[in-house]
Amino acid sequence: MLCYNWFFENQDYKIDDMPEANTDIQSYLEQHIRNIPDFPKPGIQFKDITPLLLDSQSFKIVPEHLIQPYKSQKIDYVAGVESRGFLYGTIMASLLGAGFITVRKPGKLPADTIKAEYELEYGTDELHMHKDAIKPGSKVIIHDDLIATGGSARAAAELVQKTGGEVAGYSFIMELGFLNGREQIEGISEVHSLISY
Ligand code: AMP
Repeated sequence: MLCYNWFFENQDYKIDDMPEANTDIQSYLEQHIRNIPDFPKPGIQFKDITPLLLDSQSFKIVPEHLIQPYKSQKIDYVAGVESRGFLYGTIMASLLGAGFITVRKPGKLPADTIKAEYELEYGTDELHMHKDAIKPGSKVIIHDDLIATGGSARAAAELVQKTGGEVAGYSFIMELGFLNGREQIEGISEVHSLISY
């Protein structure tokens, strides 16, 4: 893939001699993601990636691991879910030679959108995508920092499918395994996460 080679030929490192590529990704993430109890409300264990963002190496290490399952495929777009899905998702897109789609909360996207609703603990929420974001038949990876119940990832998949795209896979840094979120989306395509809690 032209873009992929271009990226690495123009960097001062290559994947094979990148020491970070061999980092034990799970212990690296454990060291850089902190747990904040009772945020944003009592009972929630919030997985805070801001320490990860402070480490400049994370912008090489994390996307490189996230794209591993998809490196041999032709991926047209990475669709990142607002807002933490934008942070490493754009670098994944660059590494894969793909474009990036923003899947956003209501009222953020300026042109015509389609929407998909998903269940929250109390009530529903919705995600939007531009109607013209995807060419029919495009292969799309859905990416977010974390999968909990799987509702938002499922809604993002619905948006991709409604506009004629094909969900080539899901990619998360973290998975809250005890919530079984992958059961919501596994039937649609393969699900990958770097660490499960
Ligand atoms: P869900 O739709 O239930 O899979 O929730 C996933 C979305 O909510 C992602 O965008 C996460 O960033 C966010 N989220 C849910 N639970 C947590 C948590 N415990 N820590 C951090 N982010 C969370």
